[in-house]
Amino acid sequence: MHLTQGLHTSIQMTPDAVASIYRGRRRTYRELGDRVARLAAGLRGLGLGEGERIGMLALNSDRYQEYMLAGWWAGAVLNPVNYRWSVPEIVYSLDDCDTRFLIVDDQHLPLIEGILATAKHQPVLIHAGDGETPAGMHSFEQLIAESAPMEDSWRGGEDLAVIMYTGGTTGLPKGVMLTHRCLWSCALMRMTTCPVDRDSLVLITSPMFHVAGMGLVAQRLIAGAPNAYLPFYEVVEVLETIQRERITEAMLVPTMLQALLAHPKFAETDLSSLKRISYGAAPINAAVLERALELLPAGVEFTHAYGMTENCGPVTLNLHENHGPEGRASGLYRSAGRAIAGLQLKIADEQGQELPRGSVGEILLKGPSLMQGYWGKPEETAKALQNGWFSSGDAAYMDAQGYVFVVDRVKDMIVSGGENVYSAEVENVLAKHPAVALCAVIGIPHDTWGEAVHAVVTLKPGATLGADELRAHCREFIAGYKCPKSVEFRDTLPLSGAGKILKRDLREPFWKGKARAVN
Ligand code: ATP
Repeated sequence: MHLTQGLHTSIQMTPDAVASIYRGRRRTYRELGDRVARLAAGLRGLGLGEGERIGMLALNSDRYQEYMLAGWWAGAVLNPVNYRWSVPEIVYSLDDCDTRFLIVDDQHLPLIEGILATAKHQPVLIHAGDGETPAGMHSFEQLIAESAPMEDSWRGGEDLAVIMYTGGTTGLPKGVMLTHRCLWSCALMRMTTCPVDRDSLVLITSPMFHVAGMGLVAQRLIAGAPNAYLPFYEVVEVLETIQRERITEAMLVPTMLQALLAHPKFAETDLSSLKRISYGAAPINAAVLERALELLPAGVEFTHAYGMTENCGPVTLNLHENHGPEGRASGLYRSAGRAIAGLQLKIADEQGQELPRGSVGEILLKGPSLMQGYWGKPEETAKALQNGWFSSGDAAYMDAQGYVFVVDRVKDMIVSGGENVYSAEVENVLAKHPAVALCAVIGIPHDTWGEAVHAVVTLKPGATLGADELRAHCREFIAGYKCPKSVEFRDTLPLSGAGKILKRDLREPFWKGKARAVN
């Protein structure tokens, strides 16, 4: 199991087919293979050894895909750096896994000075951009132009392929160790449940430093299916690209889907090429999903994915068959779906014992797609992986047919006066209000109840709404103890690089100097 295998197969079978599209630039598999073998040789020539880490600090592009493949071709391990991080956070990840090679695009050149000033080891710097290469850096394009192609190192199987630092939605980032075997297995398991059509064209807008981006790209390279890349998610460019390139699939986190549907250009765009929208990676509220089902062209299939970095991405998939009238009537369309083929999933109590169907417990996972552990953190690894079962930190229940319903992150659950309140349930109700754009529900300290339910809300442009009115709206749908005791209106909510709402940041000011039961 080598992550470059798909590229070799595509070069053999369809050398002249388009492998990648980036803002009008097209590359075939033959070109891609040639560039990758040269870039790998260039990197080796600069001293990159097998098993060593190579980072990339860049927006999405076709060059990001070349970095992935060239890194693996050279036998190295990827450390895709989250470009939303501050310099100290970037340096933390580089130092943590001893990354000595760093590829940087034009947009992130201004960060270099700060990185060099504080990193433990000065990385070899490679500039991947269209602008001039600064002094002291090597040029990505020149390495390709001037190096003779090398043979694939054929590292694979249990060799490390990626160290991916989790978004840090809940704490300090940890380096998740993913082997070639993990990523390959996950791709095959996902394809067994939801096959990939080689004629499909996916639009990659999720950041490639995140598993939602990189995991999907790795899977499509294995399947020999092409990708179109956008540097980041920007609604107008997404709509224009779908129309121009006749995109067939897009993977969107809920905040992206919501922004797409709300944009005035949405209605004017020709979306007739779209065959599938995959959504997930964070909770989606019913109001957004229902709008999407109503507004997107009738032929578009919907797939919901629940997953995490530690499993290379998808854990469960809810396929389109449950998004029709029957699924909507039974409520099955709100499920995260069933475990992907080959993955064991159980809902367990705190001792790891499986709970009866319908009871809420923690999702535990076992299978070939799971990480090896957290880089340099044996204690945290031992805590997360017990007897081969990975503790997801997510609370859920399973129905009689094996469908999983994620209710909340355990850390986001609010315990108020002894009652469990699932933040996602309250957010669903808040999002039903026509004036609400984005919302997050968190637990804040309360002298009597331990925690009180607090809502942070942004409003749609031009809308006005008072806290009492919003609370009265909630009371129509949910019990009093679940309704927000306080509401805070803001212009924006903090989002992670992957587009998820950072509840930890919202909670922090309230909990300074106080201990939360789960943190
Ligand atoms: P952390 O840094 O705490 O690990 P993260 O969001 O940065 O969190 P990821 O691996 O990107 O790390 O996200 C995994 C988590 O995202 C899951 O454990 C779950 O809480 C949430 N999640 C993913 N998909 C879904 C979904 N479809 N529905 C609800 N929650 C989801």
